[in-house]
Amino acid sequence: MRDAPIFGRSVSTEGSVCTAYATELGDDDVGLVRLFADGYPARSRLQRLTLRRAASRYAAHGWPVIPGACLAGMRFTCGLGCQTVSVHPAMEPWEAHATTDVALVAAIWRRRPFSVLLATGVAFDVLDVPAYIGAGAARAVRGPVAVTPTGRWMFLVRPGAELRPELALHHDVVLHGRHSWIPAPPVRTPLGRVRWSVAPQATEWRLPEPARVQEALLGTSLGSLSRGGARLA
Ligand SMILES: [Zn+2]
Repeated sequence: MRDAPIFGRSVSTEGSVCTAYATELGDDDVGLVRLFADGYPARSRLQRLTLRRAASRYAAHGWPVIPGACLAGMRFTCGLGCQTVSVHPAMEPWEAHATTDVALVAAIWRRRPFSVLLATGVAFDVLDVPAYIGAGAARAVRGPVAVTPTGRWMFLVRPGAELRPELALHHDVVLHGRHSWIPAPPVRTPLGRVRWSVAPQATEWRLPEPARVQEALLGTSLGSLSRGGARLA
């Protein structure tokens, strides 16, 4: 996730969790409970099926999905030697693994409970804002809105627009376009799930005009702050 202040920095950890995780390779057994050194993932099959179903649905609607690192205990890992504990693509270069091929998605998620990431800048862009801006605007726009457990609100919009200067001024407002991605519901993190505040099916998978959403964001407390700042200046 380029430039996103959401999921933390890459932090080095010792390799013990990754080593335990590596034993999951080839896991596709039904009814066999596998436990790793970190206690994960006794429920991996259900988790994997849930993630696979979501990834397939996104792909079927033309939204490019990317396999993300698996949640293992309190961190994400993409395998042996993984240095990044926050959610990240499981394969590099990740853009080469973005796909809308439903059969390929099914095959990928048959292997592991990969997190579901969505590539931005192709089917849609994402306006990624903090709760004090996003919560007030979510119902005003007719488009999908996802929320992370850390309180980031992600507005899916038609791709290609620039960020308006009033929004670009705010370091906690991020526009994800080409070469970026977001974690998608129902990805689990150590703090909880990414969820839809407005699900794509509620808007029949239609995406709003970015200008309209940016207007709505500016109409919230951010707009008040901006106008207040302008008066003070
Ligand atoms: Zn990794």
